[in-house]
Amino acid sequence: MTKHIFVTGGVVSSLGKGLTSASVGMLLERRGLRVKLQKLDPYINVDPGTMSPYQHGEVYVLDDGSETDLDLGHYERFTHSPLSRASNYTTGQIYLSVIEKERRGEFLGKTVQVIPHITNEIKGVIQKLADDETDVVITEIGGTVGDIESQPFLEAIRQFALDVGKENCLYIHLTLIPYLRAAGELKTKPTQHSVGQLRQIGIQPDLLICRTERAVSLDDRKKIALFCNVPLEAVVEERDKEFSVYEVPLSLVEHGLDEFIVKRLQLRANALNLDDWRDMLHRMRNPKHEASVAVVGKYAEHFDAYKSIYESLDHAGIHHSTQVRIGKIRSEEIEREGAERLLSGFDGVLVPGGFGERGIEGKIEAIRYARERGIPFLGICLGMQCAVIEFARHVVGMAGAHSTEFDKNTKHPVICLLDAQRNVTEKGGTMRLGAQVAELAPDSHAAQCYRRTTIFERHRHRYEFNATYRQQFVAKGLRIAATSDCDKLVEIVELPEHPWFVAVQFHPEFKSKPTAAHPLFAGFVGAAIERHRNRSERLKEETA
Ligand code: GLN
Repeated sequence: MTKHIFVTGGVVSSLGKGLTSASVGMLLERRGLRVKLQKLDPYINVDPGTMSPYQHGEVYVLDDGSETDLDLGHYERFTHSPLSRASNYTTGQIYLSVIEKERRGEFLGKTVQVIPHITNEIKGVIQKLADDETDVVITEIGGTVGDIESQPFLEAIRQFALDVGKENCLYIHLTLIPYLRAAGELKTKPTQHSVGQLRQIGIQPDLLICRTERAVSLDDRKKIALFCNVPLEAVVEERDKEFSVYEVPLSLVEHGLDEFIVKRLQLRANALNLDDWRDMLHRMRNPKHEASVAVVGKYAEHFDAYKSIYESLDHAGIHHSTQVRIGKIRSEEIEREGAERLLSGFDGVLVPGGFGERGIEGKIEAIRYARERGIPFLGICLGMQCAVIEFARHVVGMAGAHSTEFDKNTKHPVICLLDAQRNVTEKGGTMRLGAQVAELAPDSHAAQCYRRTTIFERHRHRYEFNATYRQQFVAKGLRIAATSDCDKLVEIVELPEHPWFVAVQFHPEFKSKPTAAHPLFAGFVGAAIERHRNRSERLKEETA
């Protein structure tokens, strides 16, 4: 019998429900349980694929091509839970499905209502993950308790316990215990109110995880337990982590979270083993080297837009026991101030994926600078497309070369739409999406990093390298390091003469974990460390 854990959030948004759900999943997995994670988002968009990164941060892509919420990135970084389309549903998808059923006449003329039709649909998508191979399903409910939007989801998870038995469900409520400086104390009232709201709709949380800046005293915990109707050991503190989000699971273990869940759900679990995780954190805390990397993007000021990129750079830093300083550079600034001024202090340049014309010339300028100065460069998706444009313009001599995404009438469409994408007008889910296989050239930088020649990486783009130019580029020194679809699509380009210049059409950042850095990020950061070392030595010689 699969057990269910529901994670809700109260008081304010951005409390880190995703991280907490991922941490709970990780701890249970490390006690030998088979865990699946799922997020239900109360917004009406069908998926986050068409939402602006300003609104929603990065769109996280899964192997099966679903475009999902960035919390699923936490799930994948913390656990091995198999994620798929069934791991992320929005209000939009739920309604769409119910309305389609209504159009097909499946409700036999009945009035279609939130209860039971929408709530049944929600319960259905939760139940879908429960099977013989799964011990625990963790379902995170987006939004904050009290929002109008989340009501149907909360109602559905309330009913769920009636359907499968209360003993098979556990409700975790993540809440905030704010510190009021003027009063000099932590305040438990918002938590009492938030739990009060949950109880009003019939959900009595089993476990309260309290986000807080300061230690919650025993007295405060007793007070919360009393007012919120839970035993004292069900009030678990989750202190803010200044150092790293990867510390969260350890602090939850300290407060007995995994043991509480295992007992309450009567799970048959092994002893917890966190040796590799502790070792990873130890390396993170005690770096032996340093390097700096500039991420040149359109939304540099907006942390969540490049979430997985920053995480992957950190993972590569852990891999090399290195502190990687990340500079967030807006490509438009490079257009204004020049690459030299903004990039000369960095040991590596990374241009991530993106859409839209704004800041493109700055990205191209940054790539030119990295290429000419021998600075390690990693281009991802749009970053690769810009690298190809830069090479065409400045090495091959094709003035005005461009992607047809930005200049429909360019004389040299070195990046263009393939026929399959040409007639697509709908906006959502119409790209080349999801994990696809590619073959590497054995003598390439990329093959050295991966230590194999067949790779499986995730895509999310419409435009492609224009194969008509392939021979011309190769003649001028560009290496085609990976292709797919019987050599038709170009997936990686490199410069063999450069210390480390690799640009990829896919998104390696979706496959990196803190305990297993992605090979390309590890290779790139390794090259940046090398450059840092050489630069420091040169500086020492000069001043000696
Ligand atoms: N805009 C480009 C395309 O659609 C790149 C997309 C991306 O970087 N994810 O092909």
